[in-house]
Amino acid sequence: MIVFIYWGTKKVVRILGHVADFCPACRKIARFELARVGMASHVYGIANGQGKLIGHQAMCMTCESLIGVNIDNYQNILDKPINAPDMESLIEQTFPNIMEAYKERLDLEARLARGLEFISDEERMSLIMEPFNLVANTVEERFSQTHIDLYVVASLLFTIAGPALIVNLLQAIGLSTIPVAELSLSIMIIGIVAVIYNGLKSKGRYLRREIYPKLARALQPFKPTESELKAVLAWFKKSGYVMPKKMNLKDLVQTIRVYAPDDPAGLRGSVRL
Ligand SMILES: [Zn+2]
Repeated sequence: MIVFIYWGTKKVVRILGHVADFCPACRKIARFELARVGMASHVYGIANGQGKLIGHQAMCMTCESLIGVNIDNYQNILDKPINAPDMESLIEQTFPNIMEAYKERLDLEARLARGLEFISDEERMSLIMEPFNLVANTVEERFSQTHIDLYVVASLLFTIAGPALIVNLLQAIGLSTIPVAELSLSIMIIGIVAVIYNGLKSKGRYLRREIYPKLARALQPFKPTESELKAVLAWFKKSGYVMPKKMNLKDLVQTIRVYAPDDPAGLRGSVRL
């Protein structure tokens, strides 16, 4: 008898607690949930311990952006958010020299808040690039796995249960002469086509639902032009990311426009306001 054992390595994320850090998407110091990221061996998906340390990540409690962090920056890690009910006490307990550590960045944010004319072209391009960098790893990780969303599940259910359900329904309303076998087969084929179609479209739906709003929120102060966004996506494509191939520039532009509705031309033409 041949026995197949499913094994390998998997990422293990262990929550360590709460800290203060700078969120590039919120553009301010925010509350983060700090986690240890390890790579552990697993058998049938069950990990063996917390694995070999590969780094630490922190998730912004406001926007859920993930950033890579250096754990040595923190003086203390709080178990519960209640231990630091306000930002001031969180900073004081976990990252007391945060203003000094992020001095340059906070200065850049202060200039940006005054107006786009107070930042250089290089700073503008690097700030437009930043939100894409923030989501890139999450998107690549997601695309490397098979995800079945609700649309695919609904299509699968239709393929399995649809033929019997529709045939019974038609017979119940008096259509007893229907060609049952042909009708069932046709319904099943429609179901299979729907499963394939929805499977192919699921990456686009994920981007529209989860990623474009995050990018739009972070990008809206810049009102980026289409050519700037194209340049960013071209860079990620050149660097071997799958993300730009699945991204739809029109959908992204539309989402940014919802966040920046006062922008009459910046997103439509190549002229920056
Ligand atoms: Zn944030």
